[in-house]
Amino acid sequence: MPLVGFRCPDGKKVSFEECLSKECPGCLPRLIRMGLLVNRHERAKEISATALNNCIKKTVLERTVNYYDAPSKLYYSFRGTLAHSVLRFLLNGNNIQNPLVAKIVQEYKKNLIVEQRLYRTLDGLDVEISGQFDVMELNTGVLTDWKSTSWKNLGYLFSAGPRKEQIDQLNVYRWIAAPIVEVKKLQLGYICMEGVYCSGQEYQMPRKLKGKTILETKKIAEVPILPEKEVEEFIYSRAKILVESFGTGVLPPPGGEAWLCNGFCPFKGEHCDGVTE
Ligand code: SF4
Repeated sequence: MPLVGFRCPDGKKVSFEECLSKECPGCLPRLIRMGLLVNRHERAKEISATALNNCIKKTVLERTVNYYDAPSKLYYSFRGTLAHSVLRFLLNGNNIQNPLVAKIVQEYKKNLIVEQRLYRTLDGLDVEISGQFDVMELNTGVLTDWKSTSWKNLGYLFSAGPRKEQIDQLNVYRWIAAPIVEVKKLQLGYICMEGVYCSGQEYQMPRKLKGKTILETKKIAEVPILPEKEVEEFIYSRAKILVESFGTGVLPPPGGEAWLCNGFCPFKGEHCDGVTE
């Protein structure tokens, strides 16, 4: 049972049909609200790399109860699809008008795996684990996943590096792809309004110092490649909880981080008390 409608800024629950039939002061424009739904996929019991890295309780609730969410809370995932739309436009046989770009893309894409869903089984689990990474360059072995982020969060990334859930997600992708292709490097590309910043690369970033703007060299740490055994233990422990919960109907304990519980979870208050920091 999936997302069945939107929650208006005043808290009212409405069907998609009602929501998308009109503009609404204080809410996102109607066209953007339509865009929020275009790329939504409801996955019944399939276990994806994304599901493993989410709050497990939230994943179960998303698939077992009908729920409503605010368009503003879903906007971040819509922004995340923009880079994917560009990739798809460029690489999936679209009619590119510029002949030079068309020629380069034609050559370049021979060397890529783009947005393909791959599956792998793990001993002891009677369910397939799936993953759809963004791009894999075959000649270099670099697997890249694009993330939409804010300028504010970029400061956190420069100082603390990629978030643990993103590191886990990319390592699960690497594990799923392993029987087909060797992934030698994992990379995150953070897209924000001001630019695109990739893990493992240095950037000259402006900073105010005594009234002047200076440039500082900054780097988002590399995404580490975790040992296979560690990745398999991670997958097994999380997938087992999900499978059991889908089978028994018993919800797992809360497992979100405070930013997720308090900012982006439609179940907080109705089905779960969340966690606090
Ligand atoms: S409120 Fe927090 S712990 Fe509860 S389901 Fe949502 S994300 Fe998970």
